Amino acid sequence: MNSRDIRASFLDYFERHDHRVVASAPLVPHDDRTLLFTNAGMVPFKSFFLGEEEPPSRRAVSVQKCMRVSGKHNDLENVGPSHRHHTFFEMLGNFSFGDYFKAEAIRYAWELVTEGWGIEPSRLFATVFEEDDEAADLWKAISGLQPERVLRCGAKENFWAMGDTGPCGPCSEIFVDVDPEKPPVDWAEGSESGRYLEIWNLVFMQFERRADGELEPLPNPSIDTGAGLERIAAVLQGVESNYDSDLFRPILGATADLAGVAYGTVPKSDVAMRVVADHLRAVSFLLADGVVPSNEGRGYVLRRILRRAVRHGMSLGFEDPFLGKLLPVVSEVMGSVYPELVQAQAASAVSLATEETKFLETLAAGSRQVQVAIEKARAAESGRLDGQSVFRLYDTFGLPLEIIREIAEEEQIGLDETGFNVALNEQRARSRAAAGGAHKLLGDAERLLFAAVEGETVFSGYQQLALSEVPVLALASSEGESAQGAERLTEGQDGIAVFPKTPFYAEAGGQLGDRGRLRWSGGEAEVVDVQKEKGVTFHVLKVTDGELATGDSVNAEVDSAWRKATQRNHTATHLLHAALRHVLGEGVRQAGSLVAPDRLRFDFTFGRPLKPAELAAIEEIVNEWILEAEVLEITTDREFEEAVSAGAMALFGEKYTDRVRTVAIPPLVRAENERVESLELCGGCHVANTGEIGLFVVTSERAVASGVRRLEARTGEGARELAVERARLLQAAARALSVTEEHLPEEVVALAGRQRELEREVSKLRVKMVSRSDNEGSEVEIEGVKVMVREVPSAPANEIRNMADVLKARIGSGVVVLGSREAGKVHLVAAVSADLVDRVHAGKLAGAIAAKVGGRGGGKAEFAQAGGKEPDQLPNALECVPDLVREQLVSSGVET
Ligand code: ATP
Ligand code: MG
Repeated sequence: MNSRDIRASFLDYFERHDHRVVASAPLVPHDDRTLLFTNAGMVPFKSFFLGEEEPPSRRAVSVQKCMRVSGKHNDLENVGPSHRHHTFFEMLGNFSFGDYFKAEAIRYAWELVTEGWGIEPSRLFATVFEEDDEAADLWKAISGLQPERVLRCGAKENFWAMGDTGPCGPCSEIFVDVDPEKPPVDWAEGSESGRYLEIWNLVFMQFERRADGELEPLPNPSIDTGAGLERIAAVLQGVESNYDSDLFRPILGATADLAGVAYGTVPKSDVAMRVVADHLRAVSFLLADGVVPSNEGRGYVLRRILRRAVRHGMSLGFEDPFLGKLLPVVSEVMGSVYPELVQAQAASAVSLATEETKFLETLAAGSRQVQVAIEKARAAESGRLDGQSVFRLYDTFGLPLEIIREIAEEEQIGLDETGFNVALNEQRARSRAAAGGAHKLLGDAERLLFAAVEGETVFSGYQQLALSEVPVLALASSEGESAQGAERLTEGQDGIAVFPKTPFYAEAGGQLGDRGRLRWSGGEAEVVDVQKEKGVTFHVLKVTDGELATGDSVNAEVDSAWRKATQRNHTATHLLHAALRHVLGEGVRQAGSLVAPDRLRFDFTFGRPLKPAELAAIEEIVNEWILEAEVLEITTDREFEEAVSAGAMALFGEKYTDRVRTVAIPPLVRAENERVESLELCGGCHVANTGEIGLFVVTSERAVASGVRRLEARTGEGARELAVERARLLQAAARALSVTEEHLPEEVVALAGRQRELEREVSKLRVKMVSRSDNEGSEVEIEGVKVMVREVPSAPANEIRNMADVLKARIGSGVVVLGSREAGKVHLVAAVSADLVDRVHAGKLAGAIAAKVGGRGGGKAEFAQAGGKEPDQLPNALECVPDLVREQLVSSGVET
C-alpha cells in the first residue's frame, strides 16, 4: 500500500462509518492563540470538544498536517537519529464529539488495522491507562488479544489533558511488533528500543478537570485519535524505517544524488540526510502556509529548522544553497495531496535561497573554528572540548551553544559545559568589573556556594520588598580577587550570602540587582549587589555592624527607592521598545538593554542614525503612554508557545523554559488606525501603572556597532533632575551673558561669530608685530648668509608659519628660524630662501634644533616644522642655530 492508498483507506473507512471528511487545516492554527503550530489532528476541532461551538457533524475524520517543534510536543532534536519522529508529519484521526465512545473507538481501530490494513493480530499490542479497567476489558472482548498483550501504563504515557483545566481522560495506544520473526522480548525493552512501535493513540475524553483539580465526568464524553501516516506507511510497506517508505525515499534519493553521497552507507551522513529530508518537508510546508523566516515566533522556528538543515547539508558537502533545489521533489511526492506546495514553490525557492546564503556565510567561519577546536581537543589529554574553547567559539564566532553541542555530539567528543559556564560567568564578572561596578562578584565564590546549597532560591520580591526571618544557608568571604567559604563574616568584611528565599531581585534581563540591607539581632550588613546563576541568588554584602554566621536568621530589606526607580526604567524600556518599532518599523530588534535606577539604555538593530523628528516622535509616544496611566497586565506561568503566538517577543538565542511570565501594557491608541502595543516575555520588575514613570527623556542616541544603535534615557526622579539641571544651566548661562533665556541661542551664535572675527584680527596683528619689530640681536651673518633667529609668542602653527614667510620675504635672501613655547611643548619653524636651498636644508636644520628640545622633525629644503617637549631648552637651542647653519654652509662648500 502506498501512502496515497493509506490516506484514502483511512478516510474511506471512517466515511463509511458516518464520519464527515474534513480537509487538513493549515499548520498555522486559525483562531487559536494558544499554539504556535497545529500539532495534532484534534487542534482544528478544539472548540467542538470544549462545547464552545456546535459541530456540523458529531463524527469527523481527517488527515492533518502537524508540526512538533516547540512547546509540549517538541521532537526536533530527535529528528535524524530517530527513524520514527519527524518535525512535520501527517496525522490520521477520527473524532467523536459527544457521540460514540470507547467501545466504538476501539472497534473501529482494531478493524481497520487488522482487516483494512491486514496487520496480523499476533503482531499487535494495546496499552491502557492503569486505572481504566473498562478499556482493558473492551480490548480483550473486541480484539481477542491475549491478556498479556493488553498492558497497563501510568499517567505519563496514557493520560491525556488539553491543558491544566478542561477536557482530559485516559488513552489507549496500539503498538506493532516491527520484527515479528525475532523471538519476543520484554514489553519494557521492546517499547523502549522501538521494536514495539506506537502507531495509533486513542484518547478517551472522559472528564473535565476543574480549576480546583477535581475531575468531573463529562456528560457526553468524546473521542480523539491520532495515527502517524509515516509510521503506518513503514509498517505496511514492510520497511524498517519511516525514511524507507514511499513518503521519504524520493526525497532522500534526490538529496543523495545532489550531494553525491549514497544513502545507507555511512551512518553519519545517513543521519544528516534524514535531517535534510525531514526539515525540507517541514520548511516547504511552513513556507506554503505563509510562515516567513524571522527572529520571533513561528518565523523563528522556521529559521531554526532551516538552519539545522543547512548545517547538516554542509556535513554532506554542500557548500552552496541547496534546499531550494530540492523543493521540486517535495512537490512531486506531496503536491497532488497538498496543492499549496506547488503554488508556493517559486516563492519558497526565493525565500530559501536568501536565508541559506545568509546563514552559510556566518556558519562557514564558525564551523571551521569548531573543527579546529575539536582536532585540538582530540590531541589534548582530556580528549574533550574544554570550556574556554567552547566559550571562544560562542563569544568570538557567535555560534550558539546548541550548535556547538550538536557538532560535538556528532563528532562524539565531550564538551565541558560547566567550564563553558564558568568562562561565561568570568566574562560577565569581567564586564561587570570593567563597567566599574564597585563590587565584583567572583566566579570562584559562586562555585564555592553552589556546592553548599541545594535547589533554587525562591524570589518573593515582585511586590514584597522585605522578608523577615530568612535563614542564612551559606556564606563566602571575599577579599580582592578571591573568595573563600566562610562560617561567619565579621564587621568590615565583604562577602556573599545565599538564602532559601529572597526579596532581592538578582541582575537579569538587563535589570540591575537590588540594593538594600540585612538586619539581624546584633548586626547589620549592606547588600551592594545581587547576582544569580542557575537559579541561585548571590547577595554580595558588606557587614557594617556585628557578625553574621550561617544558620542565623536575618530580615532582608530591599532599598525601595532603588527598586522603584529601577522599575520605572524597566517599564519605560518596554514602552520605548514598542515606540521604536512603531516609529521605525517592525524590523527593529532589541539587541541588549540596561535597566538601572538612574538611567536606561536600549540597543537595537537599525542601519542609520535617528532623525530628530523620529526621536521626538518616540519620546512623545512614550510620554503619552505614561500620561494614559495604564495598568500593567502581568501574567505568570504562561505557556511559552501561547505567549509567543499572542505576539510576545522571543529573542533569538535566548532560552525560555516552557512556562513564561509576560508583561503586557494596554495599547496606546493615538488615532483610529494608530495603536502602539507592548507584550514581552519578561521576568523583571515593573511599575503597577505607567503613570508612575512620571516623565521620559531621551538623553542620547548613537551607534555602538555596525547596524546597532543605542538610546539612553531617564525617567521619574532622574528625568525631573535632568529637567531641573537643564533649567539651572540655562539660567546661569543667560545670566552670564546678561540676556533672557529666550534670547540665549541667538546670543550664543552671535558671540561665537564675534569670537572668530577677533581671533582672525589678533592673528593678523601678531604677525604684523613680529615682522615690524626691529631685528636687533636676532639677525646675524654667517659666511655671508643672513640668519634670523627668534622666539615668538605662542600662536597656532599656521600663524608661526605665516610669520616665517613674512620675515623671509623681508630679508630677501637668508635663513629664518622661529621657535615658540607653550605648556610643555615647543614649536619650531625653519625657512630658507630659494637661492640658498642648495647650501642650507631647512628640514635638516629643523631636525637638528628639535633634537636639542627633546623632539624630532624635518621637512623640505625650503621649509620645515618641528616640535619638542622641553620648552626650557628653547633659548639654548636657538642660540645654536648660527653654528648649525655654519656647519651646513661649510660642508656644502667642501662638497662643491
Ligand atoms: P512517541 O511517544 O512515539 O513520541 P507520542 O506519544 O508523542 O509518540 P501522540 O502524541 O500520541 O504520540 O501522537 C499520535 C501518533 O502520532 C503517534 O502514535 C504516532 O504515530 C504519531 N506521531 C507522534 N509524534 C510523531 C512525530 N514526531 N513524527 C511522526 N509521527 C508522530
Ligand atoms: Mg512524542
